[in-house]
Amino acid sequence: MYINDLNLQNLVVAEPGESYQAQNLGNRYIEVLVDCPGATDTEAKLYVYRIAPNLEIRPGDILSVPFGAQQLGAIAIRILAEPPSNIPSENIKDVEDIIQKDFFRDSYWSLLELVSKYYYTSLIQVIRVALPPGLLGRSQHRIRLKRESIPNGAEEFLRLSAARQILEILQSQPDGDYSYRFLKRQVKSKAQFYIGKKQLIDRGWAETYVELPKYSRPQTKLVVTLVSDGLHVALNKRQREILKVLRDCDGELWLNEFLQICKTTTSTLRGLEQKGCVVIEEREVLRAEQSPTLTQDQAKTLNAAQANALATINSINGFAQVLLHGITGSGKTEVYLQAIAPLLHQGKSALVLVPEIGLTPQLTDRFRARFGNKVAVYHSALSEGERYDTWRQMLTGEPQVVIGTRSAIFAPLPKLGLIILDEEHDSSFKQDSPIPTYHARTVAQWRAELENCPLVLGSATPSLESWVSVSGSRGAGGPGGRGAKEEYLTPHSQLPTYYLSLPERINSRPLPPVEVVDMRLELQQGNRSIFSRSLQEALGQLQEKKQQGILFIHRRGYSTFVSCRNCGYVLECPHCDVSLAYHHTEEGAPQLLRCHYCNYGRSHPQFCPDCSSPYLKFFGSGTQRVTQELAKQFPQLRFIRFDSDTTRNKGAHRTLLTQFANGEADLLVGTQMLTKGLDLPQVTLVGVVAADGLLHLSDYRASERAFQTLTQVAGRAGRGDDPGRVIVQTYTPEHQVIEAVRTHDYQSFCQAELEQRQDLDYPPYGRLILLRLSSLDPIQVQNTAQIIATHLGSNAGFEILGPAPASVMRVANRYRWQILLKFSPDELPQLPNWEEIRDLCCDRVSLTIDVDPVNIL
Ligand code: ADP
Ligand code: ZN
Ligand code: ZN
Repeated sequence: MYINDLNLQNLVVAEPGESYQAQNLGNRYIEVLVDCPGATDTEAKLYVYRIAPNLEIRPGDILSVPFGAQQLGAIAIRILAEPPSNIPSENIKDVEDIIQKDFFRDSYWSLLELVSKYYYTSLIQVIRVALPPGLLGRSQHRIRLKRESIPNGAEEFLRLSAARQILEILQSQPDGDYSYRFLKRQVKSKAQFYIGKKQLIDRGWAETYVELPKYSRPQTKLVVTLVSDGLHVALNKRQREILKVLRDCDGELWLNEFLQICKTTTSTLRGLEQKGCVVIEEREVLRAEQSPTLTQDQAKTLNAAQANALATINSINGFAQVLLHGITGSGKTEVYLQAIAPLLHQGKSALVLVPEIGLTPQLTDRFRARFGNKVAVYHSALSEGERYDTWRQMLTGEPQVVIGTRSAIFAPLPKLGLIILDEEHDSSFKQDSPIPTYHARTVAQWRAELENCPLVLGSATPSLESWVSVSGSRGAGGPGGRGAKEEYLTPHSQLPTYYLSLPERINSRPLPPVEVVDMRLELQQGNRSIFSRSLQEALGQLQEKKQQGILFIHRRGYSTFVSCRNCGYVLECPHCDVSLAYHHTEEGAPQLLRCHYCNYGRSHPQFCPDCSSPYLKFFGSGTQRVTQELAKQFPQLRFIRFDSDTTRNKGAHRTLLTQFANGEADLLVGTQMLTKGLDLPQVTLVGVVAADGLLHLSDYRASERAFQTLTQVAGRAGRGDDPGRVIVQTYTPEHQVIEAVRTHDYQSFCQAELEQRQDLDYPPYGRLILLRLSSLDPIQVQNTAQIIATHLGSNAGFEILGPAPASVMRVANRYRWQILLKFSPDELPQLPNWEEIRDLCCDRVSLTIDVDPVNIL
């Protein structure tokens, strides 16, 4: 049945107007894509199966097929009129069953193909991201009795011992249901088993079915439904009472609830069923994330800027990209809610992507308060059963709002009317690993275009990419220029873009003033605490004023920059304009500083090259260290730690945030996840313990990210009636990022930053592809990196930076190297043949191609 290894990049999946649209019933074979467990990343294989006459299969269906000794998930790709000539037709097996009909519609399939091409990933790997886990997994072949069709004394008809044996085994089991595997073991001969099974099925006494993988089994519960009032049947008093209860409950109750309410038994009910008064049947219950009951919330009266934004979004017909640039607390979410409401009435659905799960409880609550049970949440922290059910709920086509993280961009909503990316600048929309290394914003642009619906990108601090993409439309409100990668989809069309601004906070509340504290002065004036005197004073006042605060700490692995505590000097690479990183290879190794772009290295100097002070230190202080310090200096202060350690358990985000919102603590101490979308009116103080950890990461995006993070953190203060206050501690108060955060000046920051990017051809002006290599063998990975770089060097059209070791060189015992390719988006580079490059890697070196990398560390 196996044809050949196909390069799926070149695979025509369905010719428009051909196999998707019309199925010629004369065709009896189908090519399917099998998710074989052993297949490597690059070899996705197509297999041919026969279609049994009773199955109506179309390309895009998800199937279950026999594969070796197993049943596996597969996707129907193309119907064939003839079996392939190189395979004897008796070797072709039958498709077992259809798991999900019509899953891959044209536009959805095109989207997956685009992702596969653009991110150099095989189609099956893209499909794995798009489907809920387990759907393509192993399924089980089972056989069950059709008791109602078996006549009395059936065993007597069966002369053949195997059929009789199978029947008896099945009858001995209350459900009359066993797996093939089990039955086969009971019947000694395999051939006899198949003959016996066939006999039972031919007589209609049993049927076979495929049980889906464990998690993709729908959950069912028994429900009792009233079908007759029982007036024309002889019933006793008790039975009439029971029917009355059912009638009072609108004629329908879950069986378990019914038994409780009526204090009756299943057999009593079965009696009523036999008399034709009720029906007891299985009904599917959808597993969904539990959420507290919320009071219904009404649309708010919009202010002028919000009303203008809403009117523009509503007026868009078809595809367009909208940048909704609203400062923190300006009411972006209210605009989303009101843009979605009319769509639901038109029978369409909306997709809302958010960066991280940390902020979804609050955001989903707001959506649920507005749209009730039309809101579904889809993210990887759900249980597999919940994911599967939510996914199936989407396929129904019911108008709904799906809120999810990155991978929800693949949510299979058939009638999509709007896509929203909230906090679109956030780097968690990018997947670094595993492949495909997609950016949800890029995929969203393609999807919106394919579905012909608007895409709204919302942020207080838009990414430079999005800012540049609307540069033509700012002020004018008309269509602007096309960004770098859109040409990939439709080279000649104009990308219609809109720029919408919400420049004020709701109720004209002011943005909080930002006080920058120079930590060098604190040291000089004898304060050795990690808290400046300003911050100490503010923390001390919290309880007195019955207000709450947030303390933000930046923490990131081992990778830290080196700076002078006396003068603020930061060690940088002489060639690359990025700070050098302290290189943590292993315990006891000599202290080495390195550039991750060009591999320049130097030893750690003892004295500051600028002021000769000995206070040249690595930076980095974790939440733990800060909370220890807090407990020592402010023993009366109640705080909650909010970081990846304390929020690991399911529901922990919600619990901690609820505790904080209920005033059970004065201070929330945490990392990055604090910055995202928290809307807590009691918070008046925001403290940034050390901004420097953000400023000097060895990445060309460090400044942009630092500005975004600090602005977002600052934006948590003063969202209620009490005015807010922000204290930013730093050793480099003159840094342009700090200055821009202090003055809330996004525009000037952008301008300066964009000039630098343009000079160096970094995104959004140039494009990058990062090759990440890793291996258990440090020598082999370095050699391979060198070989690949040399090979690439012969290609024209792009610049090669590296190879260089990754900043954390060894992770989980693997040594990591990387090569950065930089090219101009205008002249299409002669990109290398990736199969060839993969071939340069020996077995022991693995390669990931990260397209448009966001984290180069
Ligand atoms: P953003 O998403 O831009 O940070 P939010 O949508 O969270 O802002 O709005 C901030 C707060 O203002 C929220 O509590 C929200 O309920 C409230 N709000 C938003 N729009 C309005 C409005 N038009 N009138 C009154 N309150 C509003
Ligand atoms: Zn360098
Ligand atoms: Zn110095």
